[in-house]
Amino acid sequence: MPGNSGIDALMIPVADEESAGFWEGTAGGELRMQACTACGRLRFPPQVMCPHCRSTGRDWRPVSGSGTVWSFVVPHPPLLAAYTELAPYNVIVVALEEDAALRIVGNLVTRPGGPINEIDPATIRIGEPVRVVFSARPGPGGLEVFLPEWVRAQE
Ligand SMILES: [Zn+2]
Repeated sequence: MPGNSGIDALMIPVADEESAGFWEGTAGGELRMQACTACGRLRFPPQVMCPHCRSTGRDWRPVSGSGTVWSFVVPHPPLLAAYTELAPYNVIVVALEEDAALRIVGNLVTRPGGPINEIDPATIRIGEPVRVVFSARPGPGGLEVFLPEWVRAQE
């Protein structure tokens, strides 16, 4: 397809100034949320201003990495080429234990670095407990990116 032929790899996020602390955490095996230094509320994704009190004071706090499946989808083609090979796979939205309004999008896997299509999507249940793992995935420029992914809490 013209104009689409250059996209043949999985899309890996790139750290920017605001998210750098998040990615430093994942590289060290820690899930961190940005915290407001004025009101103390956690927020995700990282952003300059607190959506609750409008303070721009912020730092990073580790969280437990436990949560529940809040929602999920099962993508099917048409998809980007790299994803077509993996479909059907799962994309889950996790509500964190600390605050159910903190939600992170990721994949449910059987082990860190495991394929994102290894779990039968028909077995995924809304509300099932999950915990974070960190998977080293090849990122831009050959650098590894430690993506937060999720495994079932019992496994
Ligand atoms: Zn605040």
